[in-house]
Amino acid sequence: MAVSFDSSVILQVQQANDIIDVVGEHLSLVKKGRDSVGLCPFHDDHRPSFSVSPTKQIFKCFACGAGGNVFTFMQMRENLTFPQAVERLASRAGIKLQLKHEPPRENQFDVDPNELARVNAWASKYFHKTLFEGEQGANARQYLESRKISIESAKQWQIGLAPAGGEDLLQKAIISKIPQKLLASAGLIAGSSDKFVNRLVFTITDVTGRVIAFGARTLDGQGAKYINSPTTALFDKSNSLFGLEQARHQIVATGTAVVVEGYTDCIMAHQFGCKNVVATLGTSFTAGHARILKRYAKKIVLIFDSDTAGIEAANRALEICLAQRIDIKVASVPAGKDPCDFILAQGREPFELLIENAQDVFEFKWKRMTETLSRGDSLVENKAAIEEFLQSVAVAIGRERCRYWTRVSLPTG
Ligand SMILES: [Zn+2]
Repeated sequence: MAVSFDSSVILQVQQANDIIDVVGEHLSLVKKGRDSVGLCPFHDDHRPSFSVSPTKQIFKCFACGAGGNVFTFMQMRENLTFPQAVERLASRAGIKLQLKHEPPRENQFDVDPNELARVNAWASKYFHKTLFEGEQGANARQYLESRKISIESAKQWQIGLAPAGGEDLLQKAIISKIPQKLLASAGLIAGSSDKFVNRLVFTITDVTGRVIAFGARTLDGQGAKYINSPTTALFDKSNSLFGLEQARHQIVATGTAVVVEGYTDCIMAHQFGCKNVVATLGTSFTAGHARILKRYAKKIVLIFDSDTAGIEAANRALEICLAQRIDIKVASVPAGKDPCDFILAQGREPFELLIENAQDVFEFKWKRMTETLSRGDSLVENKAAIEEFLQSVAVAIGRERCRYWTRVSLPTG
């Protein structure tokens, strides 16, 4: 049964828990003017960048962008749902909660996200263990070897194997007394069969390390090459990035987030020491991805395929970032290669050079326009190409001018 609280109760709990006291129990704060500052617990902070306001009762990290009220802090710090954070703070303040029980809803998401995370973590361990078990995992281990993914990387990224039997995970879950309903809610089974069968499994975590979903590559050519967990209360692929947990410190440190498309591209980059790389889950770059990365990165570099579909995807990503006022550059690896192949063949430095020499929006749009014009076969097409170029320049220039004016007007205003 879903638990909820009256808003008056939530307010009462909030007022009884001063944010300075609550945060002060987790990290040391120093008074600075009206606010208190400390080292941010949500990224590798050396500055300190974490500020707590007693007047507004909110916290904000100016480096990684984490922020919110006292409930948000508890949720992030202790990995709690909102009701759990309310309960925790109520008991801290000695308030007895009157629970308002809602009638059960026929909702596929009517399940505690933390329970999903726990069952996912269990499945991730199971897949990972299976990968290293004798004959059963031989084929998958051979695939990893052929892609030059090291054993250390396989361990670090908790790569696993979903066995070929069709109900191995389900049987294991029955023995471990895990409810089938929970497995179904997590998208681990479909009916009475495993969702992932004879596939190499990539564990997808959120920024706090919770296992939120899986991506799985076929090992026998059956079905789609890659499949992901379905959308759940914990996972939405257009708002999730593979590797963010591992990459976020380096993204904050360098100010740059490098975005690739594939799991193996991301893992290989990290294996070669490029640790500010994340991957979209085989989908194109979305506004949701941009919003997440904006919290950690000043600049995004998108590595795209140099085929027509890849160029169109890069163009859409540019538009998204332009609209959200995010600095984006794009780069491509030579035709027919993916970033994983490129790093393996060329090594770390050429990959870093590729990132360094990425095109900004002007270069990309200019090239796009001149290529259309040089084909020169349709006046309508040419006009559209020129308009597209001018439009993006206008948006980008407008932004630069805004920046310029905020800068010159700041000292007086
Ligand atoms: Zn932070």
